[in-house]
Amino acid sequence: MIGMLEDKDRIFTNLYGLQDWGLEGAKNRGCWNATKDMLDMGRDWLITNVKNSGLRGRGGAGFSTGLKWSFMPKELKDRPHYLVVNADESEPGTCKDREIMRHDPHLLIEGCLIASFAMQAHACYIYLRGEYVLERERMEAAVKQAYEARLIGKNNVHGWDFDVYIHHGAGAYICGEETALLESLEGKKGQPRLKPPFPAGAGLYGCPTTVNNVESIAVVGTILRRGADWFAGFGRPNNTGTKLMSISGHVNRPCNVEESMSIPLRQLLEEHCGGVRGGWANLKAVIPGGVSVPLITREMSETALMDFDSLREMRSGLGTAAVIVMDNDTDLVKAIARISYFYKHESCGQCTPCREGTGWMWRVLERMAIGEADPSEIDLLLDVAGQVEGHTICALGDAAAWPVQGLIRHFRHEIEDRIQQYRTRRANFAGHAIAAE
Ligand code: SF4
Repeated sequence: MIGMLEDKDRIFTNLYGLQDWGLEGAKNRGCWNATKDMLDMGRDWLITNVKNSGLRGRGGAGFSTGLKWSFMPKELKDRPHYLVVNADESEPGTCKDREIMRHDPHLLIEGCLIASFAMQAHACYIYLRGEYVLERERMEAAVKQAYEARLIGKNNVHGWDFDVYIHHGAGAYICGEETALLESLEGKKGQPRLKPPFPAGAGLYGCPTTVNNVESIAVVGTILRRGADWFAGFGRPNNTGTKLMSISGHVNRPCNVEESMSIPLRQLLEEHCGGVRGGWANLKAVIPGGVSVPLITREMSETALMDFDSLREMRSGLGTAAVIVMDNDTDLVKAIARISYFYKHESCGQCTPCREGTGWMWRVLERMAIGEADPSEIDLLLDVAGQVEGHTICALGDAAAWPVQGLIRHFRHEIEDRIQQYRTRRANFAGHAIAAE
C-alpha cells in the first residue's frame, strides 16, 4: 500500500501524547504483549523476521536493520555484546525520535530488549542528545517502571538478564555519528573513529556493538507482533514499512506524522500539512530528508515519493524524512549559507577537507548571499564541495557538501542574478558619486 496510512496500521498510536505515556497506557496500546513468546522463538527467528520486514535504518543511512544485527558474532565469548541506541537526534529539521521518547518510551524499551536478546547483549545504552532534558527524564522514568514490573533487569519475566542505561550527551551534532557516539559514551572527546574495525567487531569498550536509531528499535516489537509481511506490505519493494516524517517550514500546519513509506511528497504536504503556504505554485524548493541532503525543486517535488530509491534517483535522499519546505519568499543562497555555517560549527576538525572546507564554503556562500562574488567562484565552490565529499573520515563532510551541490545544481541562476544585481548597484552608486562631484 502506498500513501495515507490508516489509524489501525499506526505503530505510534500515542505520537501526540494524548494518552498515558506510562506502563499501563503502553500495555493498553499493545506494548509488552507477547514479548516473551517472541523471545522464545529464538534469535534466528527474530533476525530473520526483522530482515524479511524490509526495515531499513531510520536514522538516515537506510541500511537493513536485520542484516546489521546479523553482523554481530554468533557466539558470546569472552567479550560482552552491547546494543547502543542512537538518540542524539540533532539533524536540523528532524524531531521524530523525541516524540517516541516523550510519548511512547515503552515501545523503545521493549524494542531494546528484543534487539539485545537477538544479538546476545545483556546491556543497552541509550545515548540522548544534550538538549533532550524532558526526554531523558521521561526515559529514566519509563526504565524505572520497566525494572519495577520486572520486565527488564536481573531475573526478569522474560528470562534474559538485561539492563538499560540512559546516557545524556553534551549537545554535539557529531556524536550522532555512531563511532563518535561510542567515543563519547566511553568518556572521551566525541570524534569519529576510522573504520574498519566496525562496531560489530570492536565497538563500545572494544566489544561487539550494534548502534541503531531510536525509531528503528521502537518499531521492532510491533513488527514481530503483527508479522513481517504486514510491515512489508507498506511502501514499494526495497522501501517498505511505515515511517515517522517531520514536516517543517512554509506549510500551513507543520507536523510529525507516521505515514506509509513511498507516499507522494505532494500528497504528504497537502493531506497532513494543509498544503504549502500560499498554494503549491508558491513552492520553491524542498529539502526532503534533513539538511544534509540536497534540495529538490517544485517540479521534482510533484513526482517525488518519500522513499530511499525515489529520492536517490533525484540525487537527493530520504535521510531522516525531515521535510523542510521553502516557498518563493525564501532566500535559498542565504538558507544554504546558514546550513554551511552549521556544518562548519559542528565539524570535529580531525580531517583537513572537512575542517577547512566547511568554513571555506560558508564564507564564500555568505558573500554570494549578498552578491559580493565573481561568477567564476560558483564553479570554484562546486569544485571545493567535490573535494570535501568522499574525502573525510565520516559522513559529515558529505553532509556539508551535498546542500551546496544541490543549490548550484538547481538554483545556480539565483547566485548569478545576485552577483549581477550587486554589480549593477555598485555601478549605479559609482555613477551617482561621480555625478555628485
Ligand atoms: Fe570530524 Fe569532519 Fe572528519 Fe567527520 S568529516 S571526522 S566531523 S573532521
